Amino acid sequence: MQIVTDPAAMQQLALTWRARGERIVLVPTMGYFHAGHLSLMEYGRTQGDHLVVSIFVNPTQFGPQEDLDRYPRDLDRDCELAAQQGVDLIFAPAAGQMYPPGYQTFVEVTEVTQGLCGVSRPTHFRGVATVVLKLFNLVQPQVAVFGEKDYQQLITIQRLVADLNVPVAVVGRPLVREADGLALSSRNVYLSPAERQAALKLSQALFRARDLAAQGERSRERLFAAITPLLQSEPRLRLDYLNLLDNQTLAELPTIQHTARLAIAAYVGQIRLIDNILLEVP
Ligand code: AMP
Repeated sequence: MQIVTDPAAMQQLALTWRARGERIVLVPTMGYFHAGHLSLMEYGRTQGDHLVVSIFVNPTQFGPQEDLDRYPRDLDRDCELAAQQGVDLIFAPAAGQMYPPGYQTFVEVTEVTQGLCGVSRPTHFRGVATVVLKLFNLVQPQVAVFGEKDYQQLITIQRLVADLNVPVAVVGRPLVREADGLALSSRNVYLSPAERQAALKLSQALFRARDLAAQGERSRERLFAAITPLLQSEPRLRLDYLNLLDNQTLAELPTIQHTARLAIAAYVGQIRLIDNILLEVP
């Protein structure tokens, strides 16, 4: 497995592969791998000739009060895990190489980024869209793989490639959970045992809503009435949002026609966690 840090070298290599007619798959990440990341790699492996995983803790997607400096990092361990997944190349640039002095260009996806995480993180998706477009230009992938864990991010990137005619197929893959339901996240390492227990309420609430929808419940009001007591019963948990959304547009839904996405964000102590689930009414 190759490790490349220089953006220009990455692009040169990618253009060489493309000139030979080879297919490049990119899995963009911020590293500190868990089984969710590995599932994207496992899928990506089947989609082309070169599987590239980027590891970049992107400063422009963190707000000034957020955890950029203490975001967990372990490049050696990540490289070992990636090699075991059959990754061909790790692209791990330094922040100064991606945003050298004089940098001043940003990409904004204006609508699907407004609600949900966009409310408490107003500059987040601008940073995400910008870095992902840069990564696409550097790695030249035909396919890019994202997790449904960050559902609003996935929809934002799909909007970006459609709107800017970017020739990349953006694939969303299922959210991977711990055995007890907790959505895997690099930030879970921050949780104390008691906080981790409290965090389980997020997935429990989503599962309850999924079951009610499967039994025919279509009304947002009744679904929320059924699950908010569960969330309020945990004093360590502070809800940021709970939204019932159209799967594609992220528009808020008062009732479910066939399917919808239920998305939640909450603080457990200082840690902000997100989760979501597909609801299907038969
Ligand atoms: P991150 O390193 O947190 O930026 O995540 C990199 C990619 O992995 C993104 O596409 C995430 O949506 C995806 N991802 C993170 N956690 C999970 C999970 N639990 N299940 C599936 N994909 C995930």
